[in-house]
Amino acid sequence: MNILVVSKSEEEFFFGDSVVSEHKIEFSSDVGQALAYIKSHSLPDMLIIDTLDAGNKAIDLLKNVRGLDEAEDLFIILITGRDEISLEVEGLKHGADEYMRRPLRKESFEAVLHLYEKFIFQRSEKDRFKELAMLYDAVFQQAPIGISISHNEKPLEGRPKEHFEVNQNYMKITGRTAEELLESGWSSITHPDDREKELELYRQMQQGITDSYAMEKRYIRPDGTVVWVDLIANTIDFNVEVENNHICIVQDITERKNAELALNESERSKGILISNMPGMAYRCKNDENWTMLSMSDKCRDILGYQPEDLVDNKKLSYNDVILPEWREKVREAWNSGVNKKKPVDLSYKVQTKDGQVKWVHEIGEAIYGEDGKIEYLEGMVFDDTKRRQTEEDLKFITEHQVWTGLYNRRYLDKYFSEKSALSYKSALILVNMSKLLSLNLSFGYRYYSDIIKKIGSALKAFADENRTLFHISENLFIFYVEKYEFKEDLEAFSRDISKALESLLSLELISGGIGIVEVQGNSDDLDKLISYALIASEETSEDAGERITYFFFDSEMENRHLRRELIKQELSRLATGSNEERLFLEYQPIINIKEGDRIWSFEALARFNSEVLGRLSPLEFIPIAEETKLIIPIGELIIEKAFDFQKTMEASGETNIGLNINLSVVQLREEGFCDKLFALADEKGIKLEKITFEITETALAENLSEINHAIVRLLEKGAEIAIDDFGTGYSSLARERELNVSGTKIDKYFMDKLMTLETFDESIIGDIISMSHKLDNYVVAEGVEHQVQMDFLRIKGCDGVQGYLISRPLSAKDAFSFIKDYQPIG
Ligand code: C2E
Ligand code: CA
Ligand code: CA
Repeated sequence: MNILVVSKSEEEFFFGDSVVSEHKIEFSSDVGQALAYIKSHSLPDMLIIDTLDAGNKAIDLLKNVRGLDEAEDLFIILITGRDEISLEVEGLKHGADEYMRRPLRKESFEAVLHLYEKFIFQRSEKDRFKELAMLYDAVFQQAPIGISISHNEKPLEGRPKEHFEVNQNYMKITGRTAEELLESGWSSITHPDDREKELELYRQMQQGITDSYAMEKRYIRPDGTVVWVDLIANTIDFNVEVENNHICIVQDITERKNAELALNESERSKGILISNMPGMAYRCKNDENWTMLSMSDKCRDILGYQPEDLVDNKKLSYNDVILPEWREKVREAWNSGVNKKKPVDLSYKVQTKDGQVKWVHEIGEAIYGEDGKIEYLEGMVFDDTKRRQTEEDLKFITEHQVWTGLYNRRYLDKYFSEKSALSYKSALILVNMSKLLSLNLSFGYRYYSDIIKKIGSALKAFADENRTLFHISENLFIFYVEKYEFKEDLEAFSRDISKALESLLSLELISGGIGIVEVQGNSDDLDKLISYALIASEETSEDAGERITYFFFDSEMENRHLRRELIKQELSRLATGSNEERLFLEYQPIINIKEGDRIWSFEALARFNSEVLGRLSPLEFIPIAEETKLIIPIGELIIEKAFDFQKTMEASGETNIGLNINLSVVQLREEGFCDKLFALADEKGIKLEKITFEITETALAENLSEINHAIVRLLEKGAEIAIDDFGTGYSSLARERELNVSGTKIDKYFMDKLMTLETFDESIIGDIISMSHKLDNYVVAEGVEHQVQMDFLRIKGCDGVQGYLISRPLSAKDAFSFIKDYQPIG
């Protein structure tokens, strides 16, 4: 310790070997010198001022030193004389800490040192307290938390009586000043929903049951807003005799709380979303069990299990639910997805709690942690059974014919493309029932479809593993025959089918055809093979007894087919008007043998001069034109040309000779046919009274309302209708009467037959004539080539004849010559 002694009697301060000698003592004999010393040096720890020599100067020094800022805590001792009490008082008044009276002794000095130690301790205590106070203040005011310290005997009744302190933050959080808080107390500014709970906790604390409590609570600010706080309350001991002391620390957590509430809300809506999802949401481990961590309630609907049964593999694992044969596939799909870090999308079968097997569809993905490792798998499982069923139904529909449930054309394509690469022999056997279409026309769709169904099931009996049956269009069936040995096998098979169908259809007046084509190699295309089979199936047999015939496709058929195609092309060109002159008419006279053998009429017969094939018979091109409906435009052309001929005839004065025009069913069924015809007649100035339209017997028998209607309209315009080819098809005399037909043309077949008969008595020509006459129809015999036929017809009362005996069909020019030169032939 540094001690500065201001005294003139230095010797008095030597006490020999004492504690004093442990300290460093400086002496100063003069007050002024001492002051200068203090100012120039660092402060001593203790200043001893001897008043003996200095007197009042000592007090001045004391005052001076004490006046120095840094000397505030300097320990100052005065040394006084025995009776200098007033000086002592003066000294203490001016800042001396202690005094010593003379004579100076070792003991008193030691006592002073002890005193000093005590003083030092007190001084450091004071510093410590000051620091603490500063720290407390800093913490109290600046801490980012709200603090309130209070004692409140009756917190419910309001105003705390004494100690109450709140910090800035507390005021900020509650939105009130300290004064306002003092006024309100804490319970009245607490959210009503939290109040009861807090008061209960507070009560427990104050009763000593607990010494603290913590809760999340809400204050209501004066503006009505709610502030969420995290509150910790503790009892506090103030060392004063008041109860209910406590400190309360609150932290504003409104933001967090709101975020949390929002999160809860979004969790909740997510929950709602998940429970309403069509699928089961899950989270599972990427382990051998697919150990479920969580599953949505949809689990019950899809698997029949409670989510709890599966979570943590409690009752069974998800892997157990997957059908055994699918487990490996599911594993593979996930492994590959995980390897590629891509979502997986897979379908498999599961078994539900009640044993039902279901298709499910799963989409999911792996969720990775920060370390890049899989944390878990997450996704959705959908019940796919219904969709699969519809898909299968759809597949069935797309692959099967609706009426018969047999495989359809589309499936044949697929089947064929899979089979055609094989080495064994295979063939297509096509059953063509397209003639059934006429049933549709006359008996209606229902009847027609029923027959098709019957045929389908009859054919089904012939199908086996090597003979697959397809129903490729309404009236076409195909057997795809595999692994046969000989052509004869195909033939035998076709014969069996034919027999079966014939007996099935024995009551129907219908025929069909079977076409057989062998698949030659891989390169064969199905369309072509079917068209060949179709060509073969359309071959007609001479053998009248067999109604369902079968033919192998051969190259000759193909040639015929190609020829037909060629004709079709030329006819369509003709129909578009590009080579009209290639179509022309010839006229064959019909003689009335009842009324003086006069020229009754000319029948217009169509001729086509093909560019490639030369002159074609109408027997060849008319059916093609009918089939392609080209007969409609071509028929118009024919009528136009025929009208022109009629016009020229009338112009040359031949007003009594009629004109016969052949009409096909297709024309008569065409809407607007009559309108067009009438318009043309008007345009050409033709009276229909001289025109006879020849309609085949078969066309009439079909009894179609459009045809009936067309006939009625033609008759109304004064035209006549004659039944062509009478006796060859099926007919109904009742219909003829009903339709007001004017004439009957007996087919050439009967004339030919007449020539082969032993006696003419066997001929039914006479019956046809008398029957027709009964219906008020005149009768014309076609194809009369021989005089005997003519004579016979005269005897039987036939009205007219037509045939080579009289004339072949003639060009228009020759027809006029014929009229001019005509001589009746007896
Ligand atoms: P169809 O209506 O029965 O015509 C009579 C057919 O018998 C004609 O054959 C005619 O040349 C032929 N013919 C006439 N008299 C004799 C004879 O004494 N002996 C022989 N052997 N034949 C005779 P064509 O001209 O070949 O006509 C064939 C069929 O083509 C016609 O039979 C008719 O059904 C159809 N046809 C001809 N022109 C037309 C037409 O303009 N429109 C329609 N829809 N069909 C037509
Ligand atoms: Ca005719
Ligand atoms: Ca005929």
